Amino acid sequence: MKYEAVIGLEIHAQLLTETKIFCGCSTRFGSEPNTQTCPVCIGMPGVLPVLNRRVVEFAIKTGLAMNCKISSYSRFARKNYFYPDLPKGYQISQYELPICENGYVDITVDGVKRRVGITRIHMEEDAGKNIHQKDGSLVDLNRAGVPLMEIVTEPDIRSPKEAAAFMRKLRTILRYLGVCDGNMEQGSLRCDANVSIRPEGTEEFGTKTEIKNINSFKFVERALEYEIKRQIKILNEGGKIIQETRLWNVDTGTTQSMRSKEEAHDYRYFPEPDLVPLEVSKEWIEEIRQSMPELPDEKRNRFIEEFGLPEYDADILTEERTIAEWFEECVRLGAKPKEVSNWMLTELLRRLNESGKEIHEIALTPQHLVDLLKLIDNGTISRNIGKNVFSEMFASGQSPEKIVQEKGLVQITDTSEIEKMVEDVIQANPKEVERYKNGETKLLGFFVGQVMKASKGKANPKVVNELIRKKLS
Ligand code: ADP
Ligand code: ZN
Ligand code: MG
Repeated sequence: MKYEAVIGLEIHAQLLTETKIFCGCSTRFGSEPNTQTCPVCIGMPGVLPVLNRRVVEFAIKTGLAMNCKISSYSRFARKNYFYPDLPKGYQISQYELPICENGYVDITVDGVKRRVGITRIHMEEDAGKNIHQKDGSLVDLNRAGVPLMEIVTEPDIRSPKEAAAFMRKLRTILRYLGVCDGNMEQGSLRCDANVSIRPEGTEEFGTKTEIKNINSFKFVERALEYEIKRQIKILNEGGKIIQETRLWNVDTGTTQSMRSKEEAHDYRYFPEPDLVPLEVSKEWIEEIRQSMPELPDEKRNRFIEEFGLPEYDADILTEERTIAEWFEECVRLGAKPKEVSNWMLTELLRRLNESGKEIHEIALTPQHLVDLLKLIDNGTISRNIGKNVFSEMFASGQSPEKIVQEKGLVQITDTSEIEKMVEDVIQANPKEVERYKNGETKLLGFFVGQVMKASKGKANPKVVNELIRKKLS
């Protein structure tokens, strides 16, 4: 039997606000434990939460970017459960009336476009953090009350690869909007994956399991692959899938049962009595719509139309807004779009990857790259030397002119100088000359290589080629 996977994701995104969702405490990451707390976020009796306007703005922005309907009337609810990192005994969340509903996000996997429905986006507060030690456990409440957005997809995803592609696209959108930094390692973007399988060609959904604790794109894909195989094996052996929550274990590369449906919490949701229902005016939604940046899909399409870039280039260049803007700055400074793209996709992105740096952290500027391309274009240096200059520019932030000057990299185009080198190479390799003259013309490359080596890469390759042909004919 051939099976098809059905996947739906629930994503938590930490919002980039300065302060928490219901009090004025800082949200800064990495401070001393319990230094960013107040009576509201540590759950003292008698306090009242006050909703952070910026959190609502960020949620609406995200909803608009994901083509959702923005609710003019939504409400907060109490989700009741006991845990040491939750001093109130309940989490303030949204339940039956979320701020955004019924949207979608388009993804492209292996050249095929797919639309993933967004069921809902709601706002909620994060809990604190338990720190377990040898002699007991401690609670850090700095994170308690940090604003989160929960984004829930329809079960529209059909493979682990699509799930990873969706997560990447979601992260790109959140970063474009500036509402979440998308840092999965630090936990500001986390994903729970729901998955079931069904015989290919059938409609009815199978029983799903939910995998918690996934903190990288790679693990989303791996955890789902493992879980799908596990479910197929059970069905093939005549067993039944039980609805349960499972944990992804990074070390073993497997998922383990955490709790079954019977053990699932009953959160006894009810409307939060300390907060008035949230009413959002049409004017405010419009204002937020006007303030939206160009989104990744629009930018990608514009790069293809306006600059004639291949889809592949446009996809990669628009994955990060800062990269896209760097590219556009080079074009604005007069460079040819495809040339810029070639250098960015190879030399620049590779070095950013290797150095672990973001593009705004490097000394290399768009002007440097544009000037380098000019030096190659007008024949001052060869393309190969250009790569060395690029590497130097990336490391030092110096201008290409200065590097070329100081290192004496100017291309040799003087024919007589090159002619001398060609003659030396011919003299030094009589056997190869003999073979070449007997018809082994592919040895041309060998001679060119020798001359380029003798010139330390500075001889104009075109001139070298012509001269060797002439001398050996
Ligand atoms: P629950 O009641 O268990 O929370 P929901 O219906 O709220 O389930 O859905 C939670 C997530 O699971 C959503 O992302 C949804 O798309 C996904 N989902 C629901 N049913 C299935 C299924 N049979 N297989 C895979 N994913 C599913
Ligand atoms: Zn506080
Ligand atoms: Mg649910």
